[in-house]
Amino acid sequence: MRILLVEDDQLLGDATQAGLVHDGYVVEWLRDGLQAESALNSQSFDGVVLDLGLPGKDGIEVLSSMRKRGDSTPVLVLTARDSVGDRVKGLDTGGDDYLIKPFDLDELSARLRALIRRSSGRSAPTIEVGTVSLNPASHQVHVDGDLTELSQREFSLLQLLMEAEPRVLSRSYLEEHLYGWGDDIESNALEVHIHNLRKKLSKSFIQTIRGVGYKVQGER
Ligand code: CA
Repeated sequence: MRILLVEDDQLLGDATQAGLVHDGYVVEWLRDGLQAESALNSQSFDGVVLDLGLPGKDGIEVLSSMRKRGDSTPVLVLTARDSVGDRVKGLDTGGDDYLIKPFDLDELSARLRALIRRSSGRSAPTIEVGTVSLNPASHQVHVDGDLTELSQREFSLLQLLMEAEPRVLSRSYLEEHLYGWGDDIESNALEVHIHNLRKKLSKSFIQTIRGVGYKVQGER
């Protein structure tokens, strides 16, 4: 899961990025509203954590132009303690949730999970496809009721595919949501993770759709 963090405060941004990375998110951190807008225009994210007072362009304007473009990526707005007006404006402009600074990193993570869950149309905290069950909060995967050990990257890849089910996700979409801007990716990295997941789950769970990408499928 790939998150765009837009925050111009160095200390807060640092801590937030570290906390989200620790929770398994790929985090792109920008400190300027104009840069954020251009990233949102050209790339896709699973969620956005957006400060409102930003250099370049105000957070509310960034949010407003996202929604005008029809970009429905979940947005969590960060606001200052005493600014009820900002919170109302953030929600009315198309923000999905807000947190008041300073906030607890566990709470930020939980709110992001809830936003991503709702945006994929799910109400249950676990994602179930066939005999595979994935819990984004506990980072656990069960196959036929048995706990299965996955690496962080394998877990993220499986979550992307299971959230999207029954849609097919392209190779480039998966790479974009699994790796950050600074990551050095081997050209066959995705195939290696798919191969390992198939060994740990079942051969037929992840299907290759030639020329298109990958999808997961429960037993029929
Ligand atoms: Ca700020």
